[in-house]
Amino acid sequence: MKSIVGILLIVAFVLAMPFIGNKSIDVKEPHKLDIDGNFIMYDWHYKTFKDEPRTGEGPDWDYNLKPVQVSERVWCFFGAMEMPTKENAGDMSNSCYIKGDTEWISWDTGPSYVFAEQAYAKMKEIADMPVKTVIISHEHDDHWLGNNYYKEVHGAKIIGPESVNENYFGPRNVEGKEYPGMQTRMIKALYQNATRKTVLALTDEAFDDTIELEISGVKLEYVKVGYVHSEEDWYLYLPDDKVVLAADTVMNGRVTSNRDGLVVGQINALNSIKSRDWDYLVPGHGFITDKTAADETVLYFDLLKERIIEKMEDGVIADFITKEVTLNEFRNKDLYYILSPQNVFRSYEELEMFDEDDLIDYEALKEEAAAEAAAKAEEEAKVAEEAAAKAAEEAASVQAVLEADTVVNSVTVPVVPAVPAVNALETSH
Ligand SMILES: [Zn+2]
Repeated sequence: MKSIVGILLIVAFVLAMPFIGNKSIDVKEPHKLDIDGNFIMYDWHYKTFKDEPRTGEGPDWDYNLKPVQVSERVWCFFGAMEMPTKENAGDMSNSCYIKGDTEWISWDTGPSYVFAEQAYAKMKEIADMPVKTVIISHEHDDHWLGNNYYKEVHGAKIIGPESVNENYFGPRNVEGKEYPGMQTRMIKALYQNATRKTVLALTDEAFDDTIELEISGVKLEYVKVGYVHSEEDWYLYLPDDKVVLAADTVMNGRVTSNRDGLVVGQINALNSIKSRDWDYLVPGHGFITDKTAADETVLYFDLLKERIIEKMEDGVIADFITKEVTLNEFRNKDLYYILSPQNVFRSYEELEMFDEDDLIDYEALKEEAAAEAAAKAEEEAKVAEEAAAKAAEEAASVQAVLEADTVVNSVTVPVVPAVPAVNALETSH
């Protein structure tokens, strides 16, 4: 036993050798570690960028992208059902383009500058229009590291959640202490010919709440669902197109990652999506885009919540929850064994504080809003009626004054004789 530990220690030391006293890793401010004690790779990357650009050699990574048309005005690129790896170069999430009258609108920008550049080249073949607006769903780096391509090349405005800026640029405020921004998985994990040219591009505009926009003839509702799959999630609804671009509030064909998410937030977001009228839904990960697209995620979170609460009531403690709660229905889905146990574990912690009142009843809200709108319309009709009655009264009194005053000036309007209909018919051929 001891000898195995010894061998492991030696192996660990050998593996660590290249990093021990390695002068090429130039951390100018070594106290700037992230919250987990890791180097801020971004920081390191850029401090040395000018003298020693780490951009690799050879041509750019070829993502071999093919856009898929989802609806009349929406095309998407569908990523692999995997975690980010060197082999997929971060192409493991979905991003979309919406065709406006004179410009493309980009929904999420993928894992790198090179990805965004190659995706746009494909869209340009469909319609040669620029991207002037980029809209981002949430802070996970597989969804927005292409931002700087659109900003630098197209001069696009980036609309996105405030959490992107706070968590990646910093300072991050964690329990009253300030930390620099997080490193991104992509810059850490991918080959340099995939990450080259990628720099973090700040979002230019963040909204506090759901907003309706009209861009290049496309009506959009950018819906804030809050703490769902990350600290701040948004989805995009196109009412005229009946399309929902759900990003990571919905996944299918694979198990979702709830490592940064909340079960209750997920259920609320799914109900919010359900309350909209749509024919197509594009998930953040997965290939199903028809009316069944959200079904798997709905089932997953319903079962997760139900089963954990049941076991909790039976007195099962957190340490044993991943043995007691499994989601066997999803065993054949991608990433089940990697992600499902950790989803269960994290959800246990959350559901210990579960409060039924945290669930939002969107159907009730919808009815409430409809009742409010009806009451408002009734009120407006009443006001209009009163105004009309008042106007008629005033007109009558003015008329009375005129009649008394202007008998002398009265003009008789000549009556134009009506043209007989038969003649009109005869002259028309
Ligand atoms: Zn995500």
